[in-house]
Amino acid sequence: MKKFMKELVTAFLLVCIISVSVLAAGGQNYVGNLRSRKLHSITCTRLPYEKNRIYFSTLEEAFKAGYTDIHKECLKSEFKGKK
Ligand SMILES: [Zn+2]
Repeated sequence: MKKFMKELVTAFLLVCIISVSVLAAGGQNYVGNLRSRKLHSITCTRLPYEKNRIYFSTLEEAFKAGYTDIHKECLKSEFKGKK
């Protein structure tokens, strides 16, 4: 019985890990401003208008697209101050 529980917990953890990584890979974590070409975190309170947005799932993706100028407020809150 104990072995069964252990396997169940392991399976559950695996499912969690997989779903988290899928979300991270396909998610929209960063927002580029098409007009100012600044990069924001999705949690930024001063995101550009919907029509000026381009979404990225990773920082690397954003940098490759030329969005290397990170919004100052985002730098403070999201990129450095992770708690
Ligand atoms: Zn921002």
